[in-house]
Amino acid sequence: MTIADQRTRDSLAWTEQAACSDALPDLFFPVSEFGAAEEQITEAKRICAGCPVRIDCLDHALSRGEASGIWGGTTERERRHLRRRRAALRQAR
Ligand code: SF4
Repeated sequence: MTIADQRTRDSLAWTEQAACSDALPDLFFPVSEFGAAEEQITEAKRICAGCPVRIDCLDHALSRGEASGIWGGTTERERRHLRRRRAALRQAR
């Protein structure tokens, strides 16, 4: 195993504690944020709310620019908003 492999493995160690590990993957990748998908998103967010690695998951999604799916209890649109707020705060400093 290379150092890069080890770093990748270490950086994803949090996934072993993911509350969604037994859930259907489709639940976390709704086709939209509206209509029938809203119920799906609510259920995914309910699972995320009790997840012990929610912050790690959200940080991973924000740092990688994950464009789709529910990560750390957030939708794609919510993460875009968070990224814009973080960028604005950085500029204000
Ligand atoms: S926060 Fe949600 S999507 Fe992330 S690992 Fe936990 S349950 Fe899965």
